[in-house]
Amino acid sequence: MNFNFFSIMLKLVIIAVITFSLQNCTMENEMEHENELQLKDNPVLDKLLEMGFIKEQILELDDFYLVEGDLMFSKNIKDYENNEIFDKQASTNNLVSQSNVTSMSVFIDSSIPTSGTDNWRTEINQAINDWSTVNNCINFVLTTNSDADIVVRSDNGSLRNNTIASAGWPSNNQPHHTVLINLDFWNNMIVPTGTKRYNMVHELGHCIGLRHTNWVALGEGTGNVGANLIAGTPNGDNNSVMNGGTAFSLWNGFSNFDGSISLTV
Ligand SMILES: [Zn+2]
Repeated sequence: MNFNFFSIMLKLVIIAVITFSLQNCTMENEMEHENELQLKDNPVLDKLLEMGFIKEQILELDDFYLVEGDLMFSKNIKDYENNEIFDKQASTNNLVSQSNVTSMSVFIDSSIPTSGTDNWRTEINQAINDWSTVNNCINFVLTTNSDADIVVRSDNGSLRNNTIASAGWPSNNQPHHTVLINLDFWNNMIVPTGTKRYNMVHELGHCIGLRHTNWVALGEGTGNVGANLIAGTPNGDNNSVMNGGTAFSLWNGFSNFDGSISLTV
């Protein structure tokens, strides 16, 4: 079972490589500029570099490091002790165990409004359902219990203007515990429902260990978390929901190659 799931995840993780858009380029340049102003020497920063992340892809925010656009890493060095992610000569991301991935509870924090343009609740539900359609063994379940595997909450001002949402990668066989939504994204624009849904599917994908399909084009390093091209999948997939630099995208379903993971179940 574990092996099966591993191969499933691999297939989705590295579907592609060669998308390059003006938007990506712009976002990268912005990040580089911000890094020059922000990044300070710190043991956690050393740890991230040791993990193989590229300095230009690391942004220091007040509460966490933001890596590769939308991945959160704790600023507490103790969180990096006894974490499997550092022990593996991994060929892929740290993954959620088979037993955990079949039922991952998701709680929507009260910081997400229940009405108005900042209400993402419908789209969070849709994203949960979307994942259940792509693969029988990946299931998120909405819960009213705040002690959930994943909590979706407002970023409370912590994310930059050009980051619509953020998540992280799994650790210790558990999905990443938090998804932040930037309710003031892009000068508080009214975010279309399809964009909310796209980004929620994308961030939940990160929570279970998927990295950006177009990671090479974005200048993201392999890192110790790994990134392997999967046999049978192409070198590029412009339609993959896991492409990075896609904050404005509208949900249009999983791409064929995203969806191909269901064939391996
Ligand atoms: Zn992302």
